[in-house]
Amino acid sequence: MTREIQESLNQAADLLSQAKRAIAFTGAGISTASGIPDFRSPDCGLWNNVNPLAVASMYGFRQNPQAFFDWIRPLARLMLDALPNPAHYALAEWESKGILKGIITQNIDMLHTRAGNKNVYELHGHLREATCIHCFSVYPAAPLIAQFLEDGLVPRCPKCGSVIKPNLILFGEQLPMRELMAAKEAARKADLVLIIGSSLEVFPASDIPMLALRNGAKIIIINLESTNFDSLAHLVIQADAAVALPQIVHCMELSK
Ligand code: NAD
Ligand code: ZN
Repeated sequence: MTREIQESLNQAADLLSQAKRAIAFTGAGISTASGIPDFRSPDCGLWNNVNPLAVASMYGFRQNPQAFFDWIRPLARLMLDALPNPAHYALAEWESKGILKGIITQNIDMLHTRAGNKNVYELHGHLREATCIHCFSVYPAAPLIAQFLEDGLVPRCPKCGSVIKPNLILFGEQLPMRELMAAKEAARKADLVLIIGSSLEVFPASDIPMLALRNGAKIIIINLESTNFDSLAHLVIQADAAVALPQIVHCMELSK
């Protein structure tokens, strides 16, 4: 770790200690250390030979659900096998100590709740439940996913025979209204936003930290590569979140 990054981590620890209403905004990069690839890293393979709008959009899902399930199958397996990493646990510790008020996440992997965070706004849904696209019956997702990981067949609704979709948000779908409203409210009240592991390229989620910024919050970006929002941040730390966050915990303990 360079001296410059170490200094930035110390500054992040100071900002977090001074904040009254800090929140985190997380993306796929916080979970790569748990073995789940993000979408934009080269060589991860998730988008190779796939047109996202064809396979991961609501329109594409209705046209060809099998293509969607074939694409998500390896990702679902990785997500169910994954464990929270030190970055998730750092956020859980901060929430339990009252330092962090909540997490707005774009991730569907449920690792924040599994690490122990209570106040999590899952803007892009999750894999806990699944819904029939015809009669809207809701089912627990775990048995459906286990079955489909085994046989690769599109899950069907026992009541009406239509396709069942996991409760994750596809391109072209509205974000879940209650989560979105609650996330915006948390952002408006925040005085510090830790943006962790997000390219900030997926709209409208990426607008939420900007809402906080417009209301006077300070922004810290912790990401492996630069983002289009770096110039707006008070602090940019280009580092692995699974290393940087425990380091910030450590700095805060030292300065007590
Ligand atoms: P993204 O793939 O667009 O960007 C991830 C960013 O994280 C990249 O800029 C990358 O440099 C950075 N990164 C990767 N590993 C890192 C690490 N160890 N430490 C710090 N930074 C790291 O992700 P996004 O902005 O979240 O947008 C992707 C969309 O895909 C989201 O809507 C999300 O729902 C979905 N997605 C979710 C998961 C998941 O649930 N884990 C995984 C893949 C994609
Ligand atoms: Zn049904």
